[in-house]
Amino acid sequence: MIDLHAHSNNSDGKDSPTELVENAAKANVSVLAITDHDTTAGWEEAITAGSRFGVRIIPGIEVSTRQFVGNHRSISVHILAYLPDPANSALVAELEKTRNSRINRAKKMAELLAVDYPITWELVLAELPEGSTIGRPAIADALVTAGIVPNRSDAFTSILHSQSKYYVSDHSVSTVEAIGLVRSAGGVSVIAHPLIDFPPGQALQDLPAEFFSELISAGLNGIEIDHRAVPARAKPWLRQLALKHDLVITGSSDYHGVDGKENRLGENSTSEQMLQRILDQATGFEPPL
Ligand code: AMP
Ligand code: FE
Ligand code: FE
Ligand code: ZN
Repeated sequence: MIDLHAHSNNSDGKDSPTELVENAAKANVSVLAITDHDTTAGWEEAITAGSRFGVRIIPGIEVSTRQFVGNHRSISVHILAYLPDPANSALVAELEKTRNSRINRAKKMAELLAVDYPITWELVLAELPEGSTIGRPAIADALVTAGIVPNRSDAFTSILHSQSKYYVSDHSVSTVEAIGLVRSAGGVSVIAHPLIDFPPGQALQDLPAEFFSELISAGLNGIEIDHRAVPARAKPWLRQLALKHDLVITGSSDYHGVDGKENRLGENSTSEQMLQRILDQATGFEPPL
């Protein structure tokens, strides 16, 4: 089984890279991509654990990006970057910028929350290892520890929802620019869980064809279609799009640890053929055998 999207505690996953790989082996995952948000910090440990537990590791990054879609509106888009050169200076600089802006944004959210709840920045920081990419999940964990919500999911549907008064948006690189950066670093870019925010009531003919055209023109290599958050009714449309533009199609779990999210390792998978296409296109980092 090939699972190309999973998080460790180098971002918002609960498992260390070693635990992540051990759990992948237990779930019959033979090829696993470690794709922490905006960091490559977990690669080395995951690769070491991969050889110990017999799991082939495909190092990757889930890059936080933002794309303008008209009317002064922008949407958050996650781009999975497989096998980029982790030392590419432009990519390294952009990831560092994003991680820093995430720190400032999480601090602001903690300050807003502190007005109404017994939450401090220190309590949020205590929820994750030093140096990990911070996001709302760490704030959710602090809310759980303080007994304010029972679990991460409840925090996301209430206090941490993007419409909540405690929400602060982050500043990330544009999606088009990120795809260019990944390509220049020899990586393969796949849009993660597309259309998760597509309103259930909206007609299929309103699917944002232009948005995808723009990303494809920028060099997007693939679409993560088999993911639990991709709306079922959008999948045939996305498959057609992938076929038309000869894009790679992937399926993955987006595992964040057993307590991190409901997603389970190997619940969706990618074909051997699609993995081979990713390996053939990548020139940034030689994956371990
Ligand atoms: P942020 O990037 O800080 O805005 O937070 C978004 C992150 O929160 C994503 O990477 C998701 O993995 C995570 N997330 C979103 N919804 C949930 C949920 N219901 N339960 C746990 N984690 C979630
Ligand atoms: Fe996440
Ligand atoms: Fe994501
Ligand atoms: Zn993810």
